[in-house]
Amino acid sequence: AHAAAGVPGAGAARREATIVGAGLAGALMATLLAQRGWKVEVYESRGDPRLHGFAGGRSINLALAERGLHALRAADADRDVLAQAVMMRGRMVHPLDGTPQLQRYGRDDSEVIWSVSRGELNITLINAAESAGAVLHFDRRLEAVDFAARRAFYRGDGALHRVGFSTLIGCDGAGSTLRAQMGQRADLGERTDWLGHGYKELEIPPAADGDFRIEPNALHIWPRGRYMCIALPNDERTFTVTLFMAMRDEGVGDPSFETVPTATEARALFERDFADTLPLIPELEHDFDTNPIGTLGTLYLDRWHLGGDAVLIGDAAHAMVPFHGQGMNCAFEDCVALARQLDASADLATAYAAFEAQRMPDAAAIQRMALDNYIEMRDLVDDADYLLQRELELA
Ligand code: FAD
Repeated sequence: AHAAAGVPGAGAARREATIVGAGLAGALMATLLAQRGWKVEVYESRGDPRLHGFAGGRSINLALAERGLHALRAADADRDVLAQAVMMRGRMVHPLDGTPQLQRYGRDDSEVIWSVSRGELNITLINAAESAGAVLHFDRRLEAVDFAARRAFYRGDGALHRVGFSTLIGCDGAGSTLRAQMGQRADLGERTDWLGHGYKELEIPPAADGDFRIEPNALHIWPRGRYMCIALPNDERTFTVTLFMAMRDEGVGDPSFETVPTATEARALFERDFADTLPLIPELEHDFDTNPIGTLGTLYLDRWHLGGDAVLIGDAAHAMVPFHGQGMNCAFEDCVALARQLDASADLATAYAAFEAQRMPDAAAIQRMALDNYIEMRDLVDDADYLLQRELELA
């Protein structure tokens, strides 16, 4: 079913690509190209998650929406992913005082999003990539690229490995090494706007009877004006709670990671602002002191590719703040778009340029929506005018 240009005819050379990073975009990109008959090698800095488990061992989840599911369908991975997902039919908004209320995303359960475990999703996609014929190398961190000689250098197992490539596809995330190496060859116009707000993850374990402690089929939000908590369900009946607030004291009386540096201040904050979550998070102190503070920013580039030598996709090209839950969804869409452009043109530089022209405006639009949605989630979702407007839209 794949476009003819992707499948080499008799005597045609097999098309080849080296993918840097076997995260969400890397594993899906590898699957799509291997399914088209490409020779695909993938280099991932971390160990094989199927052998070692995921870094930190915590349950971290992501909201998968239709645009991401559509891409997973193209790789035949949707059924396996949905088998481990928890449906979220709307936002459950927890006001400071009063009863939580469900705001549906759509009219019925045909318009929902899904909570998926990052670790399980990555393993499903790694398995899909291998089944499709891609070769994955774990414990291989890209360190440097010699574009002139078409050689890349990977660190792993105590040695530096030199490996040739015909083209590099950068799926190595927001801190991309490939992007840094490309930036040494040409000005990519890179800039990052830091949000000034960060996040910390906490956990709601299952209830004593093994069930979910709160409504499982919802994305829970505790909006508090300029900061908030959210919670997404995991299929092992836990919830991952994420607290978002300013990194530094902004002098307006709101909490920040500066004024709430340890578990002691965190307990006081939760007693005041998130009191209904306290009985749900028995390890609040442990989670707060153990889990790192994540920083958030939006990455902008003017160029995503260097001729036909290398191209960036996913977070490596356009990392965004997580408030629209669309970073992974957008990375998955990139994979499908790039595979289609590679089907349409045998010339890599042409395909990469067409991909960049197609996806850069889309990514910029989603980045903007993600920034706007922070205001909506933390402030507007419990506002009476906002709720009336939504009811009118859904009516
Ligand atoms: P990554 O997932 O970061 O993968 C990069 C891979 O490259 C990793 O495996 C890494 O180990 C590897 N790597 C890194 N450097 C090297 C190197 N030098 N050599 C070799 N390998 C390397 N998105 C959603 O769609 N929905 C959500 O609900 C959502 N929630 C989020 C919540 C938070 C708190 C955050 C921070 C992000 C969230 N996102 C969400 C965004 C989503 O996580 C990213 O957009 C997505 O992971 C991007 O995928 P990627 O493959 O481009 O990068």
